Amino acid sequence: MDRLVCYDCGTSYSFGTAARCTCGEPLWFETADEAVSWPGTDPGSANTVASGHNSLWRYASVLPAAAPTGLAAAAGGTPLLRTRSLETADGPRIHLKLEGTNPTGSFKDRGTAVGISRVDGPVGTVSHGNMALSVAAHAAATDREAVILVAEDTPESRLRMIAQHDPHLFRVRGDYGRLYDDTLEHDLGVTFLNSDSPLRVAGQKTVAYEICEAFRPEVPDAIVLPVSSGGQASGVWKALRELHSAGLIADMPRIYLAQAARCDPIAQAYRRGTSQVDPVTDEPTAAVSINNADPPSGSRALAAVHDTDGAVLSIAEEALLAETKRLASEAGISVEPSCAVAMAAVQKLSESAELGAGEDVAVVLTGSGYKYDSPATESTAVREIDRDDVPATVRDLAS
Ligand SMILES: *Cc1c(COP(=O)(O)O)cnc(C)c1O
Ligand SMILES: [Zn+2]
Repeated sequence: MDRLVCYDCGTSYSFGTAARCTCGEPLWFETADEAVSWPGTDPGSANTVASGHNSLWRYASVLPAAAPTGLAAAAGGTPLLRTRSLETADGPRIHLKLEGTNPTGSFKDRGTAVGISRVDGPVGTVSHGNMALSVAAHAAATDREAVILVAEDTPESRLRMIAQHDPHLFRVRGDYGRLYDDTLEHDLGVTFLNSDSPLRVAGQKTVAYEICEAFRPEVPDAIVLPVSSGGQASGVWKALRELHSAGLIADMPRIYLAQAARCDPIAQAYRRGTSQVDPVTDEPTAAVSINNADPPSGSRALAAVHDTDGAVLSIAEEALLAETKRLASEAGISVEPSCAVAMAAVQKLSESAELGAGEDVAVVLTGSGYKYDSPATESTAVREIDRDDVPATVRDLAS
């Protein structure tokens, strides 16, 4: 797989010759219909993995990298958990895709795995957190240099987490938004695996392959995910297009995207009814991993929604904090507020009956909450107790 194509104008390029289409839109890898099949349905297909673990390499025939290197063998293959404790009588069946079980705790490992297995030499990224951690870890596993550029306001706790993998870690002063373009426009001798780079989108499409394979021979009615740069949403759309075009799914699930209301450029464009996403001025939100005010694949994410009859939702700050707490206390799942927006979107869609009883919705919980202090989970319930009082107290609780 060596050709990149523009979803919008159809212009194609060979891999490595263009960072974006001349029309301004992002590119992705072209996949031939013949490459698309369910693993295991024909004997020669790539169904086994070096690690013996179920991983995204199950779909190697549709990826631009042949075999995993280092930690990449452990990416993907995440659980899809039917979660009745979050369902209501007149709402949809809820299936949670637990992306926090990836090696560095977020879906970013899918894109990093494919990227690092395809390119040689030093790698880099421009990130606020999860992608930086992922690239640093995968570079460490393959004995590569990693250049990590984080924003000036990145918290110390996050920097320490990334630094344990020994990357070249820079906190950048100045216009952080422009860095995305800087790293693509200049020949720096380092491959930057940024949020919506074609290699990353290829890796991230595997989450939708996994969801659709789990539902065979049915198809979920909807897939709901948080959106920031639009890279993951692009990957999900790409997967559905590939599976549909090859005749492996009868219908395309509706794609619903969720943003924090405090930074919602894609949702604003959706409400305006335009196909172009314009930058917004954002306000601080607890959903730190999705506050991209000028998303590079925003228009492509919007196209995904229109093509599949979905929608883009803005989630109020209180609602995303409440959902973070509810996932932890009612489903036992710790997520960042950045993923809880997707569950909050499911609530809204159920209330408006856009998602109804009898429907199946897959919700992508993009990252683990165990990595971050969440404002919604401060420990309110710690009690001091003397050792001697433990037996009687515990007995009281159980009675
Ligand atoms: C990066 C990230 C997102 C957003 O993904 P995009 O591809 O940038 O749209 C959502 N949730 C979490 C936890 C992330 O780290
Ligand atoms: Zn184009």
